[in-house]
Amino acid sequence: MTSLTRSDWEQRAKTLTIETRAFIHGEYRAAESGATFECISPVDGRLLGLVASCDQADAELAVKDARATFDSGVWSRMAPAQRKKVMIRFAELIEEHGQELALLETLDMGKPISDSLSIDVNSAANAIRWSGEAIDKVYDEVAATPHDQLGLVTREPVGVVAAIVPWNFPLLMSCWKLGPALATGNSIILKPSEKSPLTGIRIAQLAIEAGIPAGVFNVLPGFGHTVGKALALHMDVDTLVFTGSTKIAKQLMVYAGESNMKRVWLEAGGKSPNIVFADAPDLQAAAEAAASAIAFNQGEVCTAGSRLLVENSIKDKFVPMVVEAIKAWRPGNPLDPATNVGALVDTTQMNNVLSYIQAGHDDGAKLVAGGKRVMEETGGTYVEPTIFDGVNNAMRIAKEEIFGPVLSVIGFDDQDEAIAIANDTVYGLAAAVWTSNLSRAHLVGKALRAGSVWINQYDGGDMTAPFGGFKQSGNGRDKSLHAFDKYTELKSTWIKL
Ligand code: NAD
Ligand code: MN
Repeated sequence: MTSLTRSDWEQRAKTLTIETRAFIHGEYRAAESGATFECISPVDGRLLGLVASCDQADAELAVKDARATFDSGVWSRMAPAQRKKVMIRFAELIEEHGQELALLETLDMGKPISDSLSIDVNSAANAIRWSGEAIDKVYDEVAATPHDQLGLVTREPVGVVAAIVPWNFPLLMSCWKLGPALATGNSIILKPSEKSPLTGIRIAQLAIEAGIPAGVFNVLPGFGHTVGKALALHMDVDTLVFTGSTKIAKQLMVYAGESNMKRVWLEAGGKSPNIVFADAPDLQAAAEAAASAIAFNQGEVCTAGSRLLVENSIKDKFVPMVVEAIKAWRPGNPLDPATNVGALVDTTQMNNVLSYIQAGHDDGAKLVAGGKRVMEETGGTYVEPTIFDGVNNAMRIAKEEIFGPVLSVIGFDDQDEAIAIANDTVYGLAAAVWTSNLSRAHLVGKALRAGSVWINQYDGGDMTAPFGGFKQSGNGRDKSLHAFDKYTELKSTWIKL
């Protein structure tokens, strides 16, 4: 936490130098075409800068350079202990520049400054450090061969990795990819979201300062349909890693099939069920967690607990507890350290969220909290945390990912019905179960088709546990050593003795 006040942050925002160019081979440069796009702060609608709008030409340059850098061995063949040292330094530099990065993140995407500092920056540095620390502790394998044979099973870096990331945790999602990609020796091209390019651009320079050689980590800001597509279709990108919507994730698989069959690893959307049984150990804790599960980060969280499934026998008592708990989550100026709900990322996203609130009304759900845009006079894009009761799982607000602070409450009668409703979704990212019955916790946990299951809490986990989705929430896993699978090819070497 910080002792800086809102006016300190506002002062710093005024004098902040914002780098807006692409980063190729260790240098900032304009897009080849000279094109730029506007970076507007959702905090107050202010223009933050004109960001390089990269396209095919920049992708060509960056991929060519990333390939040459990879082939040179300057990073890919660096001794693991040395690579580890450099990555740990990179993590330290992210921490040392934590206030600057947090401010950039908050101005660019609207999240509360306290969260940017304590969650985004900290977790991003930790992702780099954790991956770096692992490098000289991971061993390859020797196969169980006959006496006259030696079978080596080794991991090699894939080569050139393109990482396309979303805007909700811009720095953190980038570092979930960068950590294991760098650790395993690859060259990386980061394509940040056009809605939040600033922190990705900034850390490229920190990587150089840490000792990551030029050409290993490049950043190409720009739009998905221009530079994103160019990278996804590129014949010399070996692996494409992505976090974003299911719609674009599917498109990237098509691009891979249309080009070089690059490996494609996807972290996509969610519509996660948070299931509260009548025997939950602590209903107050469950109510507070249900509120934060939808209000934290303005609900712009892939694992947001957007469907609250409540056992009907306690529903009349429990829903008012959630309505009460969500009052603690009030939109405010993101630069105020006391604020816990910031602005939605941009006007498009705000209008999307408001249209889902309208859909909730139209489909007959009952609004019990929030429901409106607020603080319009600031020029920013703020929406109150919103709760609909009386939702059934077929309504649009229960089926589609809103990616905003809108909670749907759905009743159920028994365990089987809870499981059926929970799994009745195309997504499978996360789920939570509240019960004091140990067997039920495990049985329901096993029945849930989701990559992360939480028992008597919402949103637990750290770098030690894999993160990713079942079904249309994606494939592969970020975090933990399992993430290294995405960035390495396995090689079998069979030696006759
Ligand atoms: P998005 O899919 O619209 O965009 C993600 C990225 O893809 C952006 O950088 C965008 O520019 C790029 N892109 C768009 N079209 C492209 C194309 N045709 N070719 C190549 N790249 C293209 O998603 P978003 O709105 O930025 O983020 C919100 C989504 O991300 C939500 O669905 C959310 O659930 C998901 N998300 C998932 C996780 C996870 O780990 N599973 C984490 C955070 C966010
Ligand atoms: Mn922005």
